[in-house]
Amino acid sequence: RLIVFEGGEGAGKTTQIQYTCEWLRRQIAEHRLPYTSAIATREPGGTPLGLSLRQLLLEGESIASTTELLLYAADRAQHIEEFIQPYLSQGAIILCDRFTDSTMAYQGYGRGLSLTLIEQLNAIATGGLQSDLTFWLDVEVKTGLARTYRRGKADRMEQADFAFHQRVQQGFATLAQQFPERIVRLDAGASETAVQAEIQRLLSDRLQQ
Ligand code: C5P
Ligand code: MG
Repeated sequence: RLIVFEGGEGAGKTTQIQYTCEWLRRQIAEHRLPYTSAIATREPGGTPLGLSLRQLLLEGESIASTTELLLYAADRAQHIEEFIQPYLSQGAIILCDRFTDSTMAYQGYGRGLSLTLIEQLNAIATGGLQSDLTFWLDVEVKTGLARTYRRGKADRMEQADFAFHQRVQQGFATLAQQFPERIVRLDAGASETAVQAEIQRLLSDRLQQ
């Protein structure tokens, strides 16, 4: 199973993945779920090559939009082949921080690149692998950005203008509307504990089936 966490800046994806991973490991240890292990990973940067790409993407200067799109796709292709597929074959449950919807939201809705083209590129990069369930941690752009500023040094993207982040946010909203079966919206403005409780409730439901 592949579970994805999506959202704009400061939505709390990383924290929620951590809690969810610990919770899943307890469930597995107590034989309440049929997986071999629970593993957290992220994009960009889920592999050694991906880490180099992540550094380029977050700190590089003057990256053209199409170049950026292709670097994210390259990171994903490597991630699937080297990391995600092998673990899925072993029967693991994988929690991934960002996946194909981020490319649609950031490079598509945010940068204005062709959505059709990005869908095709995503299909190439993933070999057709889709998430079984995607949590969209929906937080107001202003609130999310304020959280990242408090965290310290902003990366190349977090410094982008407010309008860009609003387009990204709108992109996630559109995707969630388009794929209600796969994408579940969570109110990430709520407390960490409340968000985590909702995730556990939804996963308990879905993973029983
Ligand atoms: O989730 P995390 O903050 O680690 O992601 C790193 C950065 O990469 C984010 O600030 C996000 O803005 C950016 N990003 C992007 N396009 C993607 C995925 C991530 O611009 N497809
Ligand atoms: Mg960030």
